[in-house]
Amino acid sequence: MTQRIAIIGAGPSGLAQLRAFQSAQAKGAEIPELVCFEKQGDWGGQWNYTWRTGLDENGEPVHGSMYRYLWSNGPKEALEFADYSFDEHFGKPIASYPPREVLWDYIKGRVEKAGVRQYIRFNSPVRNIEFNADSNNFTVTVHDHNKDEVYSEVFDFVVVASGHFSTPNVPQYPGFEHFGGRILHAHDFRDALEFKGKDILVVGSSYSAEDIGSQCYKYGARSITSCYRSKPMGYKWPHNWEEKPAMTHVDVNTVFFADGTSKKIDAIILCTGYLHHFPFLPEELRLKTNNRLWPLNLYKGVVWENNTRLFYLGMQDQWYSFNMFDAQAWYVRDVIMGRIELPALDAMRAHSAEWRERELQLSSDKESYEYQGSYIQDLIDATDYPNFDIPAVNETFLKWKKHKKQDIMTFRDYSFPSIMTGTASPAHHTPWLYALDDSLEAYLSDTPKADEIKRASGQ
Ligand SMILES: Cc1cc2nc3c(=O)[nH]c(=O)nc-3n(C[C@H](O)[C@H](O)[C@H](O)COP(=O)(O)OP(=O)(O)OC[C@H]3O[C@@H](n4cnc5c(N)ncnc54)[C@H](O)[C@@H]3O)c2cc1C
Repeated sequence: MTQRIAIIGAGPSGLAQLRAFQSAQAKGAEIPELVCFEKQGDWGGQWNYTWRTGLDENGEPVHGSMYRYLWSNGPKEALEFADYSFDEHFGKPIASYPPREVLWDYIKGRVEKAGVRQYIRFNSPVRNIEFNADSNNFTVTVHDHNKDEVYSEVFDFVVVASGHFSTPNVPQYPGFEHFGGRILHAHDFRDALEFKGKDILVVGSSYSAEDIGSQCYKYGARSITSCYRSKPMGYKWPHNWEEKPAMTHVDVNTVFFADGTSKKIDAIILCTGYLHHFPFLPEELRLKTNNRLWPLNLYKGVVWENNTRLFYLGMQDQWYSFNMFDAQAWYVRDVIMGRIELPALDAMRAHSAEWRERELQLSSDKESYEYQGSYIQDLIDATDYPNFDIPAVNETFLKWKKHKKQDIMTFRDYSFPSIMTGTASPAHHTPWLYALDDSLEAYLSDTPKADEIKRASGQ
């Protein structure tokens, strides 16, 4: 009997899984029956922008955490698919830090070409998954919002690709209940123009804090203050951005910091991270981890050791993203199709413990992305995913970090050659700081916008 695979989520990870199976099929293999359940009305996961916050049109928690004017926070050359290049998709070289809509277009291009949309059931959040020990399969319960019907089906394997940058981690500080301005988590941040002319505080020192603060600067916030718990971000900030140690408490319009200083603030944006959250999984199948490079209980970072019919994709902290999800999806495909044999439980645990031990020894960003690169290489060596030059990607990361250190407001103006095709990326027609229109049309146009160029030249 044909085996049935349930894939939870049609973001970059779930789509990588569909593409992995389709690629085997294109090479003549018989593939299992695939059903991908997607909570949203379209594919692309985080890259499918929504203006909504709170609950979505179906009363489900909004998945998306992306905001308007978001540009890639790392060079696109580090995330390029090894089997579908930017050159192939756009038909011309494009600059290295595309806005969200451009990357969404690229993600969609590969799966449109592969013809896998037919496998996806949209507006279909998975509510519950249960393992049936006697029949060695899973019962998956889904809410089909198109028909407003809850139903269950049985699957032989389950791949969880539901992402982990969606459920906000929201701390509470003394005085929040009396604060007169807006307090929001990064998950609900949508448009920097809301904070034009305002004094804002971004709490945290992650990518979100750095990027949301930069957006607010770019779109005209009066001042930006960022505060950190352990370590400052330490970039060279523009004149109206200052970094402070931890916030201790707030009153109606003032925020107080651990160094005894205080500042009048209009809005507080909590860039305090996300939780791995799987409300549809029972205790014995549920991954529990913080955001890190080696979560435990996942052999090769993907196979649930205690039940090897269950897999997780993309649950690691991400230096690498799209091509890491691909390497994982190809590996999972080959385990499911019996091309890769898994070792006994003890050996899987020993393997994970060894990688965790290595993770604990990492002491710099460089060591961290090299570690993730070596993990990806390990997966690629086991499958037919096209091999690519991982040391060259690491080199790209190194330069990217250097550019950010030089100037956090100009690092996106650099460009890199593609690791996959060798094509050199052109510089973008307008420096990032002055490119206010982030549409696909504006980005791909060969002519800069006159008003943006005027701004860039200080007129
Ligand atoms: C603000 C922000 C900026 C980012 N910027 C970058 C960047 O510049 N470069 C980069 O490489 N990465 C970036 N990322 C990381 C990003 O998460 C990954 O690029 C990628 O989207 C992860 O893919 P995924 O498929 O694992 O998860 P997601 O993209 O989160 O997709 C998961 C999918 O699962 C669906 N889903 C969730 N629960 C259920 C359920 N119960 N039933 C059915 N479907 C469900 C969701 O609706 C969603 O479509 C950013 C993330 C955020 C939040």
